[in-house]
Amino acid sequence: MPDRRALLRTLPAIDRLLGSRILSKLEETQPHLLILEAAQKVVDDLRQQLLDEQAPLPDLETEAVAELVAVRVALMAKPSLRKVINVTGTLLHTNLGRAPLCNDALQAIKEVAQGYSNLEYDLDAGQRGKRFTHVEELICKLTGGEAATVVNNNAGAVMLALAALSGGKSAIVSRGELIEIGGSFRIPDIMAASGVELVEVGTTNKTHLKDYADAIDKETALILKVHTSNYRILGFTEAVSGEELAELAHQQNIPVLEDLGSGLLIDLTPYGLPREPTVREALGTGIDLVTFSGDKLLGGPQAGIIVGNKDVIDKVRKHPMARALRSDKLSLAALEATLRLYLDPQKALQQIPTLRMLSLPVEELQRRCEKLLPQLLTHLGDQADCSIIETTATVGGGALPLAELPGCVIALAPKQISLNELTTRLRSCETAVVGRIQDDRFLIDPRTLNQEDEDLLLKALKQIFCR
Ligand SMILES: *Cc1c(COP(=O)(O)O)cnc(C)c1O
Repeated sequence: MPDRRALLRTLPAIDRLLGSRILSKLEETQPHLLILEAAQKVVDDLRQQLLDEQAPLPDLETEAVAELVAVRVALMAKPSLRKVINVTGTLLHTNLGRAPLCNDALQAIKEVAQGYSNLEYDLDAGQRGKRFTHVEELICKLTGGEAATVVNNNAGAVMLALAALSGGKSAIVSRGELIEIGGSFRIPDIMAASGVELVEVGTTNKTHLKDYADAIDKETALILKVHTSNYRILGFTEAVSGEELAELAHQQNIPVLEDLGSGLLIDLTPYGLPREPTVREALGTGIDLVTFSGDKLLGGPQAGIIVGNKDVIDKVRKHPMARALRSDKLSLAALEATLRLYLDPQKALQQIPTLRMLSLPVEELQRRCEKLLPQLLTHLGDQADCSIIETTATVGGGALPLAELPGCVIALAPKQISLNELTTRLRSCETAVVGRIQDDRFLIDPRTLNQEDEDLLLKALKQIFCR
C-alpha cells in the first residue's frame, strides 16, 4: 500500500507545471490567467484524489499533469454561449435561443455592427433621428397599425404599455387570461411591477362582456386582453371578443391593450396549423394597442413590438421606461431585415427559418430521414438500433400549444450505453447536440436540424460510438 499522504509532497509545483514543455507552448495561444487557474484546479483535484482512499492513484509526473492542465484549458477556453445542434423538433425552444435568424438578418447585423450606422441619425435632414423609425413603417404596413415602436422583448413591451397607459390606476383582466409564460412572465406580477392595480373579472373558464362592464369605474385606466398562448381551456368556455371589448372600452373612453404573445404576421392555417389571430386581425377589431415578440413565430431577433393607435403609441414612447427598455442596433437591424421579407409572404416562408421549418411537408422530412439513416448505420455499425418512425413535433416557445406538426424522425436506441449516457455525451461534444427521448429511444428530428449541420451531428455520433 503506497502512503497516499506522503505522495502529496510529490505533486508538481505550479511553477514547475507552467514551465513544462506543453504549458510553455500553450502560453503562445492561451491567456496566462487561464493556464494558471487550470493548473491550480488540476493540482487541487489531484490532491483530493490522493486523499480519497477509494480513488485510483494518479500519475504525478510533471508532463502527465501538464497534459491534464492543457485539457482543462481547452475546456475553459470554449465560449460559454455557443452553438448547439437542436434535434428536438421543437422550433421555438426558449432554452435554445428561440428563432434562428434568416440570412438577410445575419447580413444586416454584420453590416451595422462592423462599423457606424444611422441608428439615431436622420441622413436626409443631417440631424438627430429616432431609432425606431427604421422599423416603424414596415410594422405598420404589415399589421395595419398607425404607429409602432420596439423594445427589448415582449415582457418589456407589456410592462411599458401598462405603465404608460395606466398612470397608476387600474386595469381589468379576465381571470381566464392571468397567465404565466416560461416560469417568469406572470401577468399579475408584471402588472404589479408596472404600478397597475389588477382588477380580475369573470372566472377561469368563462368571462362575459357584462363582467367587464360592471367592473369599469373611475379608477379604470384600461382593459388588458392576454392571448393565452401557451395553453387552452377546453370545454365550456367563453371569452369576450376584441370587437366587443374595444366597443365597450371606447364608450368609456379607455383604451384596450392586447398582449398577443407570438404575433403572427401571416395566416398559417394553409400549413395545417391551428387558427391564431394575426396582428392585423387583432388590430382590426378596434383594439388600441397590440404587443408581441420578435423571436417567436415572427422568426426574428428578440424584440417586443408595440403597434396601434398613434396617440397611444406616443404616450408609450414618452414614458421614461421606454428609454430603459430600448432595443439595441443589432436587434433592430435583424428585425428590419426579417420584416422586409414579409412584404412578399412567399419569400418569408422560404427564407425565414422558423416559417420554413414550420411548413416542411412530411414527405420532405421523410426524405431527409432516409438520406440520414444509411449514414448513421455506417457510422454506428451494430452499436445502436436505428429506424425511421412517424411522430409529431411541437412549436414551443409558448406558441400554438395544441399544434402537432406531423413528421418523421430517426429513433436511435444505443446497445452498449444507456440513453442517459448518450445524451450526456452528446451534450459534451465539440458541437453539443440536444434532442429528446421518447419510448426509450433518442429521437433525431430533421425538422430543426439545419442541413449544413448534418455532418457535425454524424461526427458527434461517430465520436461517441466509435472511440
Ligand atoms: C411569450 C409571451 C410573452 C413574453 O414575451 P418575451 O418576448 O419572451 O418577453 C408575453 N406574453 C405572452 C402571451 C407570450 O406568449
